[in-house]
Amino acid sequence: MSQGKERKTYTRPEWVKKSVMSEEELCPECFKVVGVKSRYQLVCFLGKQQDGATVTALTAELGLKQPTVTHHLNTLKSVDAVEVEEAGRERIYRLNRNAHCFDECQIPY
Ligand SMILES: [Zn+2]
Repeated sequence: MSQGKERKTYTRPEWVKKSVMSEEELCPECFKVVGVKSRYQLVCFLGKQQDGATVTALTAELGLKQPTVTHHLNTLKSVDAVEVEEAGRERIYRLNRNAHCFDECQIPY
């Protein structure tokens, strides 16, 4: 058995199709990004928004409650998958395409 130092990996979730992501095992950070279906949908949507999106727009797009969307965004931010820009009273979220998740583990969006 491992000493607990070895990195655990996670199986690619079923909603991430093999055709768009060949990796079978994800590191913990990447699993955080796609391990929840609506979070993965959030990443996919943000991936199409070159200029980013506000929480309001994301909430409308996903049909989720705003606190839920904010929670997902904070989780994505915790692994560097999104960047935030303050714009007046709004915050603009953009996908950080240089993030580890979109590089090493090839998470598609
Ligand atoms: Zn990874």
